[in-house]
Amino acid sequence: MSERKTVAFIGLGAMGRGIAANLATAAATGDKITPPVLVWNRTVSKSEQHAAAFGTRCARTLSELSHVDLIISCLPTSVEVAAVVEDLAPELKSGSIWIDCTSGEPEATKELARKLATNGITMVDCPVSGGPAGAKSGQLTAMIGGDIDNRAKPIIALFAKKKVVDCGPVGAGHAVKAMNNCLNAAHLIIGGEALIALKRWGVSPEVALCAINASSGRSLQTEERLPKEVLSREFDYGFKLGLMYKDVCIAIESLGSSFDENSLLPLVKKMLQASVDEQGFDADYTRVVETLERKAGVQL
Ligand code: NDP
Repeated sequence: MSERKTVAFIGLGAMGRGIAANLATAAATGDKITPPVLVWNRTVSKSEQHAAAFGTRCARTLSELSHVDLIISCLPTSVEVAAVVEDLAPELKSGSIWIDCTSGEPEATKELARKLATNGITMVDCPVSGGPAGAKSGQLTAMIGGDIDNRAKPIIALFAKKKVVDCGPVGAGHAVKAMNNCLNAAHLIIGGEALIALKRWGVSPEVALCAINASSGRSLQTEERLPKEVLSREFDYGFKLGLMYKDVCIAIESLGSSFDENSLLPLVKKMLQASVDEQGFDADYTRVVETLERKAGVQL
């Protein structure tokens, strides 16, 4: 492979749109990517809009991506990734690399990587953290699972400027990401419950956070999500409740054989499930606190 790589991006959702835009900027201004970055999205109008806004090239069919050195996907779950791999893999050239930024399922990814390896294609899982704002600014953390060498890491570093962590063999990135999101959801729920209890007792949530955020109970959720998304009533972080529920299910079902129902994580899953049932898959994940509020009869 030459020093510059040809790159295609699949899945221009809340995360993919920003990641692909950063790759396009890097292609136009740097020496790592050969422009243009190709973009494919199930709804073609979004890839047309992306091309017009960021100078990427809209691919109308998956076949148009078959010649590239690097494919990067960011889809809802490993199920959609497997379907796209099924369609595209036979056409990809041997020696190409598939970087999956989906928050996926570790075992399914191992299976996909085995399949792709038979065509001479290397697959690594590379889920990311940082939300749509981090995707837009390029300040994501990437959690890599698999044997990745210098062919792809410099490209990942273009959109994961916060940190790139080698987590272990294929699937390890997805495993770490699932647990990261369990912590995220658990911290949000416990923070929400704490504020509800304090409000009922007579302390305003703003005052409570002022003290907690200068004390040992603080977390990203008390510092950022609770004030910016919940107390503001914006509920607009940009991460779907149903996708968070999926991550917690991955953590419990594929990694958590030692958790019984009295453990904390199964409870987090149960509470998210109740919130998805109430608010729907597409609601912002911070609305899980709204479900707690309704249950408690208290609005923060
Ligand atoms: P979105 O729902 O915003 O976007 C999903 C993307 O997948 C869209 O491009 C959509 O296409 C496409 N898609 C959906 N179904 C299919 C299908 N059957 N075949 C082909 N394409 C499909 O999701 P996000 O961008 O928020 O999330 C993507 C991944 O990143 C998920 O795994 C999520 O858990 C993870 N993630 C999300 C974060 C966030 O804050 N949003 C943060 C970190 C990770 P279309 O436009 O046609 O609907």
